[in-house]
Amino acid sequence: MNKPLMRIPYTELFPPPATIPHTARSLPGAVAALQEFFHAPPPRDLPRSTVVLTGAGLSVASGLADYRGANGTYRVNKTYRPIYYHEFLASHEARKRYWARSFLGWTTLRSAAPNAGHYAVRDLGRLGLVSRVITQNVDSFHPRAHPDIPTLELHGYLRSTVCTSCWNEFPRDVFQGELARLNPVWDAFLREAIASGALATEDPHEKRARGIRLNPDGDVELPEAPYTTFRYPACPKCLSSPPMLADGRRGTVEVDGDGAWSPTSNAGILKPAVVMFGESIANGVKQAAEDAIDGAGRLLVLATSLATYSAWRLAKRAKDRGMPIAIVNIGGVRGEDAFFADLDPSQKGGQGVRVEMSTDSLLPAVVHELRQPAFRSAPALADTSSPDRNEAAVFKNMLQ
Ligand SMILES: [Zn+2]
Repeated sequence: MNKPLMRIPYTELFPPPATIPHTARSLPGAVAALQEFFHAPPPRDLPRSTVVLTGAGLSVASGLADYRGANGTYRVNKTYRPIYYHEFLASHEARKRYWARSFLGWTTLRSAAPNAGHYAVRDLGRLGLVSRVITQNVDSFHPRAHPDIPTLELHGYLRSTVCTSCWNEFPRDVFQGELARLNPVWDAFLREAIASGALATEDPHEKRARGIRLNPDGDVELPEAPYTTFRYPACPKCLSSPPMLADGRRGTVEVDGDGAWSPTSNAGILKPAVVMFGESIANGVKQAAEDAIDGAGRLLVLATSLATYSAWRLAKRAKDRGMPIAIVNIGGVRGEDAFFADLDPSQKGGQGVRVEMSTDSLLPAVVHELRQPAFRSAPALADTSSPDRNEAAVFKNMLQ
């Protein structure tokens, strides 16, 4: 079935979780449960490898807001409503507002870096335990932290823009330079904000006090900003060679004297290379995410409430395949009771884990324990049946 999968914001908060197993309330207990999760043989003939599914909470320790965390966008700003794809396509004004906010937000995102949680995922890969990552995050931190573990970016990435007419991609950094050139007053404001430290602070309260707040999709909120003056460039490819429209006519791409997209155009509109809300995930990406689940024997869910249907259905797919699921997330997770309903009450983590802790403190502790020789010589890691290159890496590490 090839029904398109649309990204829809879901702003509800979920009920607080149960801790599974109940010994996982303390940090050592949670570490032991996750050790058991990785250590226990997978049920039936499922592969030993683990696929990781992550969300916005993983990047909170990098200074980005999540949606539902203690300082999450949906908690702090009850009226927050992300722009929808159809609005972006239809409205020049909406695009001005989007790009103005994105212009200011990009600098912070660009200077932010992966944190201990991302590097722990890298280390789990080096231990041969994680073979693949699916992320809903658009910040590119996973590919930066662990280029050797394949990352599927379910909702795209902010590092590029993409043309909605010709679908060519362009680097966001170059686009940022064009926005600065076309909007000198905004550029001056941005430089001032950087100089004042408003964009440099990682403290969300301080950031808000200085009038700037970064959302997970890389934009900032400035309630009183005059967005109507903002200008953005046209797709350079469509400008030099106007594209054909869906109705077979040749499109019109016009710019003002400085090269800013003109509302007399009907093509050549650039968007961020993310799946915007209300936009469908490309079938190839959807299929690749399903294949990643189907190719693993365990699912580790990190720092996401699975509120987005596209993410929740992947966890549901893993459950339907009989894969043990571990969830590390602060706050409730969509439909999580069903993921753990049939566990043996005496299990220690091999069938499932649910802990409410931050990934940047828990995961490095898990990696530390998994590196201990006693665990590394355990049967779960000594299995040679998988040709997985990351499992081979474990043996290489053991020989050193
Ligand atoms: Zn184009």
